[in-house]
Amino acid sequence: MKTTSFMHEDALIARANRNDAYSSGFDHLEYNAVRGAIDDKIYRMYWNINLYVDISSVCNCFCSFCINCAAYERKDTTDEFFVENLESALQGIRHLDPSIQIVGGEPTLKRYRPRLQSILDLVKKYRIRKPIIGTNGTGLVDPEFVDHVNGYLSHINISRHHYDDATLNTIWVGKNPLSNKKLGAVLKTPLGEKVRLNCVLLKDAIDNHSEIVKYLEWATSLGVKNVSFSTLSILPEGYIYSDPYIDQVDILGVPFDKIMRDIDNDERFSFLKYHTGTHCMYELWLYEHEGVSCTVVFATSDNTFAQRLDEIPDLIELLVYHTDGSLTASWNRDIKQIRPGDTREEPLETPAQLVQIHPASPLSTA
Ligand code: SF4
Repeated sequence: MKTTSFMHEDALIARANRNDAYSSGFDHLEYNAVRGAIDDKIYRMYWNINLYVDISSVCNCFCSFCINCAAYERKDTTDEFFVENLESALQGIRHLDPSIQIVGGEPTLKRYRPRLQSILDLVKKYRIRKPIIGTNGTGLVDPEFVDHVNGYLSHINISRHHYDDATLNTIWVGKNPLSNKKLGAVLKTPLGEKVRLNCVLLKDAIDNHSEIVKYLEWATSLGVKNVSFSTLSILPEGYIYSDPYIDQVDILGVPFDKIMRDIDNDERFSFLKYHTGTHCMYELWLYEHEGVSCTVVFATSDNTFAQRLDEIPDLIELLVYHTDGSLTASWNRDIKQIRPGDTREEPLETPAQLVQIHPASPLSTA
């Protein structure tokens, strides 16, 4: 099965044989991996490797589907340790020419601005390619911050799970950090060109074809040119996810196939490209309506295959720098560790705040 294709037929085949598609992505990674060293240890690595920097587990929102509910403990460390260890890690991996994505928690919280600034300075110093921040938009209410980060970033991914402010408030379980009005203002700045909206498809929110079209009408009316819709991932039991979290994701999940069949039949959408990795599958489409256009990614994933990758110690698809300053080749800090983090036992300046499944969310009990 092809892992990348510009033929709609290939996407249809992959959708109908999802496990085979992920297996092909897996084989493709294995057979095309580049051999290279990190700290004198040889690995087989994805040629286009990305480093995720997990700045903090702290967030001002309480989304019930947040991956922070993974079962392993996320520890924090001091800003000083985090930044020094990151610089050392970048020196150890920059020969791989990784791209970089800063995620969280919420990376733009005021508490983490000094840490974020230090990361951006390192990105510039070591010329790390394609810097991206993933944010719920909190820091973007500040025009000075917007202007400042624009100089460092190639893209900014804003989580936006609905077009309606009030519904967003229920999804975040708290106040929407970036109202539609304020998002509109950001989109008019130079940073606006770099914005991609990420919408998780959730039951009783954006959960069908007509809601997707409404969302795109709203986004394009604001001038957005890139939108990504993704399903919640299939999660294996007995791995890093707690049982309540797996149940929650089951309740909120939206079937990918039904939505895609409706997109296939909507003339406003033109198929551009299909790609599968080891556990994520993407379709890139162009949406055109009344003179405006927008590229749209539809993504789905199955972390059963991420677990499979975690079980092969020398095969690396991505790198993650964790909140405690450790560097691993997995989203799980305790698996495929390349460099240790902060192992000191004294109390930390800021304890990590794990996001809990919040029973007050209407979406969590849907
Ligand atoms: S999913 Fe929600 S709670 Fe989790 S980091 Fe993003 S905005 Fe915060």
